[in-house]
Amino acid sequence: MIKIGVLALQGAVREHMQSLEACGVEAIAIKHKEELQEVDGLILPGGESTTMRRLIDKYDFMDALKGLAAEGKPMFGTCAGLILLAKHLIGYNEPHIGVMDVTVERNSFGRQVDSFEADLAITGVADDFPAVFIRAPHIVDAGENVEVLCKHNGRIVAARDGQFLGCSFHPELTDDHRITAYFVEMVKEAKQKQLV
Ligand code: GLN
Repeated sequence: MIKIGVLALQGAVREHMQSLEACGVEAIAIKHKEELQEVDGLILPGGESTTMRRLIDKYDFMDALKGLAAEGKPMFGTCAGLILLAKHLIGYNEPHIGVMDVTVERNSFGRQVDSFEADLAITGVADDFPAVFIRAPHIVDAGENVEVLCKHNGRIVAARDGQFLGCSFHPELTDDHRITAYFVEMVKEAKQKQLV
């Protein structure tokens, strides 16, 4: 049985768990770093990246999160979660977890447009994915091994860097589970590889 964790320090946790369950895998809310040892992959939800970072430090999660990445376990960052995964952040000297080879800008769709919805064509996922953006970041630059999965108005809003998947929007706020299903496939493939 595949087990996927959802980092449960802050943000949209329950909706991600429901989406994972709809995809037929076991979902666990990760509240203690030790629980990361049980999972085959991890979702980092949307919320507020600065608050999540504060809680990551407070509960001593950073080494365990970097360790999970080093083990090759797939990690999926949505919105604030993408900010946590990025290797480079515009306006910051240091990244947070810093494992996905992208440069991300926070709150980059402008203050006027706090939130909006768009139907997106996402490579390998859907032609018409209903995406909800809330004070969303976007990917300004992607490393050479990064596969750009989706652009919206010329901006990269979904990408994959090997074991890492990131998107600017909140897939868990709709009943469309196709991007979660895509991540579940990444986790299954990674687990398969570890078994052989
Ligand atoms: N603006 C938030 C941040 O910078 C992200 C917003 C979200 O996750 N919906 O962390």
